[in-house]
Amino acid sequence: MTTTTCPFCAVGCGLVLDVAGGRVVGVAPERLHPVSRGQLCVKGWNAAQFIASPERLTRPLLRRNGRLEAVAWDVALAAAAEALAAARHEGGPDAVGVVASARATNEDAFAAMKFARAVLGTNNVDHCARVCHAPSVAGLRRTLGSGAMTNPIADVDETDCLLVVGADVTENHAILGARILAAHERGVPLVVVDPRRTRLARAADLHAQIRLGTDIAFVNGMLHAIFAHGWEDRAYLDARCENVDALRAALARWTPDEAARVTGVPAAAIVDAARLYAASRRGWLAYGLGVTQHVSGTETVIALSNLALVTGNVGAIGGGVNPLRGQNNVQGACDMGALPDVYSGYQPVDDAAARRRFEAAWGVALPSAPGLTSLSMQHAAHDGRLKTLLVIGEDPVVTDPGGRFVARALGRLDCLIVAELFLTETATCADIVLPAASFAEKDGTFTSTERRVQRVRRAVAPPGEARTDWEMLEALAARLGRPMGFRDAAGVFTEMAALTPIYGGMSHARIGASGGLCWPCPTPAHPGTPRLHVASCVRGRGRLIPVDQTPPAELPDAEYPLQLTTFRLHHQYGSGSMTRRAPLLERENPLGLVWMHASDAARRRITTGACVRVRSRRGEVTTRAIVSDDVPPGVVAMPYHFAEASPNLVTNDALDPIARMPELKVCAVAVEAC
Ligand code: SF4
Repeated sequence: MTTTTCPFCAVGCGLVLDVAGGRVVGVAPERLHPVSRGQLCVKGWNAAQFIASPERLTRPLLRRNGRLEAVAWDVALAAAAEALAAARHEGGPDAVGVVASARATNEDAFAAMKFARAVLGTNNVDHCARVCHAPSVAGLRRTLGSGAMTNPIADVDETDCLLVVGADVTENHAILGARILAAHERGVPLVVVDPRRTRLARAADLHAQIRLGTDIAFVNGMLHAIFAHGWEDRAYLDARCENVDALRAALARWTPDEAARVTGVPAAAIVDAARLYAASRRGWLAYGLGVTQHVSGTETVIALSNLALVTGNVGAIGGGVNPLRGQNNVQGACDMGALPDVYSGYQPVDDAAARRRFEAAWGVALPSAPGLTSLSMQHAAHDGRLKTLLVIGEDPVVTDPGGRFVARALGRLDCLIVAELFLTETATCADIVLPAASFAEKDGTFTSTERRVQRVRRAVAPPGEARTDWEMLEALAARLGRPMGFRDAAGVFTEMAALTPIYGGMSHARIGASGGLCWPCPTPAHPGTPRLHVASCVRGRGRLIPVDQTPPAELPDAEYPLQLTTFRLHHQYGSGSMTRRAPLLERENPLGLVWMHASDAARRRITTGACVRVRSRRGEVTTRAIVSDDVPPGVVAMPYHFAEASPNLVTNDALDPIARMPELKVCAVAVEAC
């Protein structure tokens, strides 16, 4: 029996893997886990199925004469090192880039960022947080000083009101969703703000079914009502916040009637939502990708932060501003500095003192200018500026906007190197494919959405010749003549903790003995910090920043009269590379579909199960329809786990100007029967 952490969503449930004959033969919940408390969702129960898939990559592959052929590690590493060295020689260090993984361990992510910076000499390192919670990092750092979830999941049991914005929690964070529903059944009011009628929305006391991309108008309407009725926490604002008068003045135009005009939610419901949240002693505010995946993602995060500050909910038990991270280790990959502008622990690359610390530890000069984001790397590849790219455990051809463009851009690289479990859509485009170890085959740590750093433990050997990411990066670094000095996962963690104050008091041994530690945990005696901003915000005073409604980059018109939004299904995860190889999960949701309202379907003579074409200015995708009142008239919705029916063939890559997040949650489309 091996106790470890679920490899799917960022709730971070505790798993026990049952091993017999060198194979994982069963999964059980960890009975005493502090968050999951002996429970798992259906994905967790089936977490081991993909490990034994016959489709696992077991040997390195090298493209020869247009075909990927199995080769020895030596051959693959030599080819990868040669391609990286040639690109650097021809175009300088910034002609190469690394896309790290939010699915891999912290140790893998730290090795990836060190490999990019210390071995390749570039800050071109990023990962899929770019397309999920980059606006949370940017927005909350501006207002509070830290871009992470402020309060623990356990605070759901301590709150007087639950406000969930743009998050389909029962589908995507099921164990947390169950906890929210249980609190609601005990009488805690539940307010859901979401354009779709999710399961949580159906259970809520108040479902504000806003128009796509109008969250700021809704929140500003709530804030207007809060000030108008005197529901703000005046003592908290005086003692702990700055910019109160500027915010109040900027809210003048956001009367509930004006917010209703923009959002489509009745003014009385906006005032009710404000009353339920603000008049409660404490409100636990959580949000998801429905907030962040917009051109106004960062400003929407700021608006939510304003709401929590004005009501005195930041730093309080049962309160907080809580971005629900999606993938198992997207929080950790950010913490590890797999981002173009910061080292581990969010230490800026353009801060000379921080840079000197890493230079002294690694014995090399490091670049000072922030690097390219993952999407900018695609454009640089398309334009010929980026020549060799290493993609670790990500599938951007499926998960990033404009899938055809992504494939075309990757095809223009001199060399694409992909480390993966399976031959994904992106790996299929690669010149070199390196077989990777899964969560059950490696030691390390994941950091959950509540900043809880937890152990991942090796239960079985990787199949064939597959290796952990940090091992293959170390081997590649040695080939390039710059070994990183990593011997085992615990050693990687030790180096990272020494350079990363928020992880400074942690070690594998301590995390394993404690059941997980929430950062910041700066010293070995520090107990960890489940709740941030308690006495004051990390930045000092909470900063209120007025923000205004920005419409989506693309609105419906005569040619593209509907709005497309995207979402995730309970039985699938990410690009589906793991869950679609778990037969019991695939059985439940085997198809990508497009959800559409009966009125839109009838107008087009479309019925459930009909073949339909979804078109936008960027491309088209053929799929099947499901007629449902989960979506309002004028809106269609597609899940993004299915490469054969990927909404990212039509989604918009218009960017949030601050966080560079593409607007995956809304674009204009036409839908017609095939
Ligand atoms: S809720 Fe998330 S972490 Fe927990 S079992 Fe399900 S997928 Fe795994």
